[in-house]
Parts: sequence; C-alpha cells; structure tokens
Amino acid sequence: MEDRTTGAGDAAAPLRLDPDRLFPPEATLRGIARRLYEGVKDLPIVSPHGHTDPRWFAEDAPFPDPATLFIVPDHYIFRMLHSQGIPLERLGVPSRDGTAVESDPRKIWRLFAENYHLFRGTPSRFWFEHALTEVLGVETRLTAKTADAVYDAVAARLASPDCRPRALYERFNIEVIATTESPLDPLAHHKKLRASNWRGRVITAYRPDPVVDPEFDGFAAGVTELGAMTGCDTESWQGYLAAHLQRRRYFAELGATSTDHGHPTARTADLAPKAAEALYRKVYLGKATAEEAELFRAQMLTEMARMSLEDGLVMQIHPGSLRNHSRAVYRRFGRDKGFDIPTPTDYVQALRPLLDKFGDEPRLTLILFTLDESAYARELAPLAGVYPALRLGPAWWFYDSPEGMRRYRQAVTETAGFYNTVGFNDDTRAFLSIPARHDTARRVDCAYLAELVADHRLAEDEAHEVAGDLAYRLAKKAYKL
Ligand SMILES: [Zn+2]
Repeated sequence: MEDRTTGAGDAAAPLRLDPDRLFPPEATLRGIARRLYEGVKDLPIVSPHGHTDPRWFAEDAPFPDPATLFIVPDHYIFRMLHSQGIPLERLGVPSRDGTAVESDPRKIWRLFAENYHLFRGTPSRFWFEHALTEVLGVETRLTAKTADAVYDAVAARLASPDCRPRALYERFNIEVIATTESPLDPLAHHKKLRASNWRGRVITAYRPDPVVDPEFDGFAAGVTELGAMTGCDTESWQGYLAAHLQRRRYFAELGATSTDHGHPTARTADLAPKAAEALYRKVYLGKATAEEAELFRAQMLTEMARMSLEDGLVMQIHPGSLRNHSRAVYRRFGRDKGFDIPTPTDYVQALRPLLDKFGDEPRLTLILFTLDESAYARELAPLAGVYPALRLGPAWWFYDSPEGMRRYRQAVTETAGFYNTVGFNDDTRAFLSIPARHDTARRVDCAYLAELVADHRLAEDEAHEVAGDLAYRLAKKAYKL
C-alpha cells in the first residue's frame, strides 16, 4: 500500500464545511441558490423510505464505537476499500463461513483513516464529514496521523446522552422516518415505539421480497412461516394472497403507508386466475424454472397493486440491481456486501400489464426508481408524465449523489415536471448521514432551480415554492404522511 503518512494535506488540518458547498460558482446563480436554500434549509426532514434499525429508536441505547457505526455496516465504505485490495475481514465485516475477522474497532478505524484519500470526490466522504462536523462536532480532518485523535473524539461524543438515537432524531428535526421490514418480521420494536410516550414518528414499510421472490434464500420456509403467522393456508394461491393482505393490514396499523419491491426487473404480468394459481403451485413446490420465478414476481407486482387499491398503501419498485455479483463474497459474507451491480432496465414494456390494469387509477400511487440512468429521459419521465398512478422516485443508490441528483433533474423535469416526482428519499441505514443526505438534495435542487430562474424560465417566487415542495411537501403528499 502506498504510504500517505507524510503527504501534503496530512497535517491536522481543520475540517469545516463551506456554507456555499454545491452551489454554482457563478455569482448570479450562487446568489439565487443561496436565497432559495435559505427558505428550505430548516424544514423538517421527512424520510419516507430507508433502512435504519427500529431497535435504535425503541431501545435508545448509545451507538457503539466509531468503526462499528461508520465502517462495518456501510457497503459504500467497505466496497471502495475492497476495490483497492483491502479484504473485508480486515474491516470487521462479519463472515458467515467462520472466516476470522478483525474485531478491534480501533484497528479498523486506522485502516480506514490510512486509506481515506480513496474517498476524495465521492458522496461517502461528503456524508462522513458532515456527520463528523455537524452532528458530532469533530473538526479535524481524518488522516493516518489524526486517526486516533478523531477516533477518541467520536467515541466520546457517541457516549454522551445527546448522541443517543432519540436525541439525534430530535436534533435532526425529523418529522417522520420509515424503516423497511419483511412480512415475517413481528415488528416488536415498532410495537414498543407505539406504546412508548416518545413523540418521534418511526413507521415501518412492507417489503415482501423474501416471500414473493422464489429465488430468495429461504423462500419456501418463509411462505410456510407466513401461513403459520397469519393462520392462512399458504399452500393455496388464495390463502397466500390472503396472508399478504393480512400482514399488510398489520403493518398499516403500525404506521406503514407504503410497500417496497426490490425485484431484479420491473416486469409485471396480469395472468388469468387459473394460470396464476397453477404458477403459484409450481413456485410453492419449488419446481419453478428461472423464467417462471420471474413471471411469478411479475404477477405479484400486479397483485400488490390490486391490494394497494384496497388498503391504500403506496407502492415502490426498486428494480435493476444484480445482487451478489461476486459469488465468492456472497458465500463468505452474505447479502448487501457492496456487490450489487446495476443492470439495464426496461420499464416501457415491463410495466405495461400492470399499467393496463391500474395505470389510470388515481387512487394508486406507484413510485418508480432506477439504477439505469438512460431510462430517465427515454422511459421514466414519459411514463410518469402521463399515467396518473405513476410517480418518479429520486436519484437512487449509486446516483444518490450531487452529480446523480443533477442529472436526474436535467433528464426528467422537462417531461415529467416537478410534481410527478416525490421529493427526496435518503434510503439509508447510516443514521448519522441522514441530515447530510437531505441537505445535499436541498442544495442540488436549489442550484438547479437557480438556473431556471437565471435564464428566466421560472420566477424566483415560484422557485421558492418549488424548493419547499421538493424538500418537504412532495414526500409527505406522495407517501401520505
Ligand atoms: Zn431501500
């Protein structure tokens, strides 16, 4: 590994975020962006889709050490380090095959600090530095030399009562935050939260992939468990659908307003009842081919849309990720280890069966995401720009970044407008990065709006209103929060 312990920029340089970050450098534009941002920077955070752990809010225990908080669970961080030859086991990522992994958080932290330059120009660095300075008040740039000092400062802050999950929720000015759970989750933490007198609003979302995707690890056992939980006969197609409806209702009682579907493609289907029943039979018995598994997922999206018309849950589709690309890493470490890679994704043909049935239904809200940026202007904006049931989710995952957000607005606005989009989702499990992510979205949107104002496509008072809609009101409306 290259030695960077004596390089330039390695002194204990102070770390401060520039108040004009992400604004255009040109003075006129910058002035407009600043004024727009002033109007939205303090709006509450609405986080309608994400992956924080409800246990944090239910138990309100202090967060663990700096490495366990910032590095071990963050696939953005360890995938970059892995790409430069640092094995996941040295970063403390738990193995599932008994491979020994590093357990000393300070050693993990030092390794991260020695390689911190790898994150230059990435949103990971942006979020991390926002968390250090704005959330934890640590104003030293991370380098190999400052690693221990920064570690100790972060650890001390994490131990203080004002850095407990509930205190941070309040400090972040969160109005509502959604987590994501499987239908098989008993939602114990959400129940505890409902019963507590804490005023934070933490809600769940229904993510049925483990019992909808026949190729999901443990699918058959999951379907059996779904039957046992609900008292429905999941051996039969009708019983299986009834079990979903029942779990959805339970999720809604605990605050859920949405479902989420992480399918490999956006394919939908509308089979005749007898054909759907026969397909389910094959799937249930574990006899479905890969094509039949795909058709089943497709049929289930249409079934979920039908259920949404009944119970009002907003539907989200997050397609197009080829999960666990490295089979070796999957075998050793399991899912969500940075090896989920975007694939080209079709929407126009794929969504047609569902849209034929429910696309004109204003009571349905179906929010589409993509990892295929070429689909924004060609497919997604034209679809969302005409079907009342469709909305566009914000730039997602690899594109949840300043450049990704900019490209998103540029590609979709002229066809879909602002009001077929749904504001921002942080979609994160990294709780301390939430203010940074929302702040980034607000700044990038204000910078984009500033351009429209500067070339006289939009009056500044209208831009103010749009900025508030994008930062706050659209998410509340789309997700019925
Ligand atoms: Zn998500």
